[in-house]
Amino acid sequence: MEGKIIIISAPSGSGKSTIIGRLMERGNIDMEFSVSATNRSPRGEEIDGRDYHFLTTEQFRSAIDGDEFVEYEEVYPGRYYGTLRSEIDARCAAGHNVILDIDVKGGVNVKRIFGPRAVSIFIMPPGIDELHRRLTGRATDSPEAIAERIGKAEYELTFAGEFDHVVVNDNLDTAVDEAETVITTFLAS
Ligand code: ADP
Ligand code: 5GP
Repeated sequence: MEGKIIIISAPSGSGKSTIIGRLMERGNIDMEFSVSATNRSPRGEEIDGRDYHFLTTEQFRSAIDGDEFVEYEEVYPGRYYGTLRSEIDARCAAGHNVILDIDVKGGVNVKRIFGPRAVSIFIMPPGIDELHRRLTGRATDSPEAIAERIGKAEYELTFAGEFDHVVVNDNLDTAVDEAETVITTFLAS
């Protein structure tokens, strides 16, 4: 049977990567992480090919021209992120499920493309102040980048209703439990 797509979206700092990491650690769900491509530079401990495929802007453009993306977005001015067909097609064909950490617009687009083969989950932060605290606490972004991410968050929150499920990430363990239940139920359907 063809594998399914699990979409995790939220404003930056809401806890998408943390929740996906916990789900992977638990190992209760058969799914593989789709490594996106981006033209931004690696930050913190990020590793090329594990966290992202880090491309130059020219390489990213040539991947667009070569129709290598399922979807891509200019998430921040001049910074592109995209889901590569090569991360999804072969795995799904082999029966594996794939989980995507993508921005809110990308999440809505991927759900539209895959329809019932995909479940879309919006991770809701408890509030904008807490989002600010988390982005500051993560200590990976400059004050300007944090301001840019917060500025975008209010707009992104208006998309929550377009997702199949909303999981509030206040208590992390509760949020991971909820996400796991939603995904397990979807994969069994
Ligand atoms: P995203 O992938 O959505 O940008 P991250 O997973 O990087 O967000 O989380 C942003 C920061 O918030 C990280 O430092 C992470 O450890 C922290 N964090 C995530 N979930 C929670 C939570 N429920 N309570 C407190 N801090 C959290
Ligand atoms: P960050 O720079 O914090 O890693 O990611 C910024 C935003 O880009 C996040 O919302 C993240 O989910 C999103 N993103 C990562 N990969 C993709 C992708 O392949 N497509 C889209 N549309 N967004 C992505």
